[in-house]
Amino acid sequence: LYILGIETSCDETAVAIIKNGTEIISNVVASQIESHKRFGGVVPEIASRHHVEQMTIVLEEAMNESKLTFQDLSAIAVTAGPGLVGALLIGVEAAKSLSFAHSLPLVPVHHIAGHIYANRLVKEMQFPLLALVVSGGHTELIYMKEHGHFEVIGETRDDAAGEAYDKVARTLNLPYPGGPHIDRLAQEGEATIDLPRAWLEEGSYDFSFSGLKSAVINTVHNAEQRGETIKPEALAASFQASVVDVLVEKTIRAAKQYNVKQVLLAGGVAANQGLRVRLEQAIGTLDNVDLIIPPLKLCTDNAAMIAAAGSIFYEKGIRADLSLNANPGLDLEAFSR
Ligand code: ATP
Ligand code: MG
Ligand code: FE
Repeated sequence: LYILGIETSCDETAVAIIKNGTEIISNVVASQIESHKRFGGVVPEIASRHHVEQMTIVLEEAMNESKLTFQDLSAIAVTAGPGLVGALLIGVEAAKSLSFAHSLPLVPVHHIAGHIYANRLVKEMQFPLLALVVSGGHTELIYMKEHGHFEVIGETRDDAAGEAYDKVARTLNLPYPGGPHIDRLAQEGEATIDLPRAWLEEGSYDFSFSGLKSAVINTVHNAEQRGETIKPEALAASFQASVVDVLVEKTIRAAKQYNVKQVLLAGGVAANQGLRVRLEQAIGTLDNVDLIIPPLKLCTDNAAMIAAAGSIFYEKGIRADLSLNANPGLDLEAFSR
């Protein structure tokens, strides 16, 4: 069973083919980072234009690499949302065209379900499980009692983790996207600066990173006014310690309360070295809880994860027709029903 996945929700144009839901046959990602860098973030208009230019090239490359023909495929899976509407539309229209031209079923996929299912390309999922999703637009703890079922038990009330990373990086004059740069700096420094940790109300699995972000910005400005210099390594390490402390602590607490068999890490910030190490240590202290962390290439946006999630939805009989539209605000829980 071969599923072709298409992903264009943000700034990567990606096409991949997956065999039996778990095996990557081809996985092509065209990143637009170079085009957005000088603006310090993703410019939606530019993203859409690049997707249009790249889509057929990336599709052809993924098909060539796979050595398959469209007759070998069982379905086309595509990210229908959430994301930038103009960017999503390019992928959705491409998927609809392929579905129509080759008489293939069309399977809509929620982008965050995709991030979670990147883990199934590493190892079989065991339920019930808990997924910590940390990306550019989301920070969520998601409980899954079975395939295709998503219950959001906690989410950010303001900035996403990735967003906080990118904003702090900007304050330190690091290039976009800043996450990997902060991660690298953090490994070279000590967490000597006292920064807040937003635990929120007792028992809450929600997150908040805007206070931490403001604290970092204030620390930098205050130092500038006093004519002092702060070591960027120390600031990066302190910021990262604060983010990772809260993410890991809440994940462990939820894993215990919900008695899960497995914890999955997902989303672009899952590439963070500090988070990977600390989560692995913490899960190691729990009895009979297994941890999956995808390789870096499957953490950031790609279409292999969309095809992996698409395989599950395909088996569940979820289909879209040619009236499928991009939905920038697609809801994960509603999508799972
Ligand atoms: P969403 O998935 O919520 O729609 P997105 O698709 O834009 O958002 P991803 O591509 O999943 O987000 O992740 C991109 C984010 O991951 C960026 O904010 C980037 O800075 C962050 N990131 C990537 N690598 C690292 C790292 N090593 N450490 C911290 N953050 C990182
Ligand atoms: Mg991206
Ligand atoms: Fe993403």
